[in-house]
Amino acid sequence: MTKGLIFNIQKFCVHDGPGIRTTVFLKGCPLDCWWCHNVESISFGKEPMVRADLCGACGACVTACSEGAVALADGRAVTDLARCVRCGDCVVDCPQSGRAICGREMSVAEVVAEIAKDKVFYEQSGGGATFSGGEAMAQIDFLHEALRGCREQGIHTAVDTSGQVRWESFARILPDTGLFLYDLKIMDEERHRRFTGVSNRLILENLARLAQETEQIRIRFPVIPTVTDDEENIARMIAFLHGIRFQQIDLLPFHPLGKGKAAQLGRDNRMEGIAAPSDDRMEQVRQQFAEAGFAVQVGG
Ligand code: SF4
Ligand code: SF4
Repeated sequence: MTKGLIFNIQKFCVHDGPGIRTTVFLKGCPLDCWWCHNVESISFGKEPMVRADLCGACGACVTACSEGAVALADGRAVTDLARCVRCGDCVVDCPQSGRAICGREMSVAEVVAEIAKDKVFYEQSGGGATFSGGEAMAQIDFLHEALRGCREQGIHTAVDTSGQVRWESFARILPDTGLFLYDLKIMDEERHRRFTGVSNRLILENLARLAQETEQIRIRFPVIPTVTDDEENIARMIAFLHGIRFQQIDLLPFHPLGKGKAAQLGRDNRMEGIAAPSDDRMEQVRQQFAEAGFAVQVGG
């Protein structure tokens, strides 16, 4: 049975597609967006997470770790990621519940069974299951089987994607995917590379091609002050979207949520000083897309 590396399964989601949904977050992403609020999703492997604010420097994790990967410094536990083998022994022993291993291998059957528990809510609300990440399609074998498993049970499926995957992956899951949530961020290629780590060429090509196959696409545009919300980016996005078929655009206001998680993973916060857009700014952007003739809403 194919297994996937999952970092969260969230129930009763109302922003990841229609109705009440269960969202499965798969670990690993080919992009490294500066503003990512699921920082723990980026790495393709399991990762130790440490809440420095909870650590009482008791040393239990130092004792628990047979790899010598933890030491106390400046009144808290510091983990050497190069030595850590992600065994989880320190997690069990931490009296403050301040340690965790992010990422859990689960079989398709386990995940589909978890999703199916809330089937009655999907039926009542027109919801279903959403596979997100990370980049859900980066674990294509697992995703394909999980989508099929849901479909066999009559559960609506959605896939949230960055679009940075081979076209063959889209072609493979198309028959079992009820809706694509397609992230579109920055239209200028160099700027996209700077803020996400990759070119946007494949992403735009895949979106144009996908739109020839299905209308079941929602565009997701993260509105990030000084990064994505400039007039040039919005104008270029509108021009591009005029050439393709899709249902609607969801405008996702940036929120500096990733800051705390970045610290837990020992990563830098690259969005220092950037605040959430105001309600007025979100309304201005919404109007721009609406005046261009698109169905648009703020939020997922
Ligand atoms: S997960 Fe295992 S190897 Fe890593 S720090 Fe904890 S005890 Fe040590
Ligand atoms: S076991 Fe928990 S509280 Fe104790 S030093 Fe390690 S992280 Fe801190």
